[in-house]
Amino acid sequence: MLRSVILAASRSSRIERLVETAPLTRDVVRRFVAGTTTDDALRATRQLVADGLAVSIDHLGEDTVSPDQAIAVRDEYLALLGGLAEAGLTPPAEVSVKLSALGQKFDERLAREHAHAICAAAAAAGTTVTLDMEDHTTTDSTLDILVELRKDFPGTGAVLQAYLRRTEADCRELATPGSRVRLCKGAYSEPESVAYQSAREVDKSYVRCLNVLLAGQGYPMIATHDPRLIAIAEDRSRWFDRTPDQFEFQLLYGVRPDEQARLAEAGHTVRVYLPYGTDWYGYLMRRLAERPANLAFFARAVATRR
Ligand SMILES: Cc1cc2nc3c(=O)[nH]c(=O)nc-3n(C[C@H](O)[C@H](O)[C@H](O)COP(=O)(O)OP(=O)(O)OC[C@H]3O[C@@H](n4cnc5c(N)ncnc54)[C@H](O)[C@@H]3O)c2cc1C
Repeated sequence: MLRSVILAASRSSRIERLVETAPLTRDVVRRFVAGTTTDDALRATRQLVADGLAVSIDHLGEDTVSPDQAIAVRDEYLALLGGLAEAGLTPPAEVSVKLSALGQKFDERLAREHAHAICAAAAAAGTTVTLDMEDHTTTDSTLDILVELRKDFPGTGAVLQAYLRRTEADCRELATPGSRVRLCKGAYSEPESVAYQSAREVDKSYVRCLNVLLAGQGYPMIATHDPRLIAIAEDRSRWFDRTPDQFEFQLLYGVRPDEQARLAEAGHTVRVYLPYGTDWYGYLMRRLAERPANLAFFARAVATRR
């Protein structure tokens, strides 16, 4: 219930203005977002890589409404990938891309072309792209574009969301040689017709999907902060004889950093999802919807006026 309310607020421009102008919002944002500029992203990436972690960088922004905006997003990724190569941060650092930021909602072909240009720049920089997954109305389109991109860039990663009823079947489809698949619970508010509603059902689906991916031929990217699911994944990876170069854990920047370090010290590949940019509102609201403790921290910040 609370989750739905916060996710609804993530679509309200009135609440967005209130949140963005609250004095302490900056401190909350800083916890989850690496900064606003390409240099901020490169600096944070350098630090994480020095700590033995891999990184997937996300330029914040979604639901682009004009072709010019989509071009600006594409160009930001091209600059970022150039910066990563120049700084010697590839291959440990790759990029995550939201197709809606490239115009998917008003021109699917345009989004595909921009994503293709980003994948080409990533390949030239010696790294890869993962296509973030957004709400269920975009799943088919995103997976279709993924298939197209993989013809030229087979390392392009997909994201599947365990809360969707269709996902176990999608995992089967994508668990093929060379196929990189990030499995997450899912961050959007989805109707019962397409998504499991209870945490227990979502967790059970996550484990079923995990088994399919680990038993398959692809490269599973296990994206969760959930201690129980991480323990199950560690156990199942041993069961399926997966060596550390055959799967990875992924966690969000600023979330459970001690667990990120523990997993890396245990010999696992750990990738931190690192968002940066000025358009942080939707991302931050989804993080708040996931965890009431974050909400209390945030409510104090918004309520403080000094
Ligand atoms: C790398 C990465 C990429 C993602 N990409 C996408 C995407 O493309 N599309 C999409 O829809 N979603 C994406 N997500 C978000 C994901 O779908 C979930 O919304 C998000 O990860 C929260 O789910 P959870 O698995 O961490 O578990 P939750 O159900 O949120 O939490 C389970 C348990 O984990 C622990 N925990 C969680 N957060 C914290 C915290 N801050 N501090 C301490 N303990 C904590 C607690 O014990 C909690 O009870 C991504 C997540 C990650 C990690």
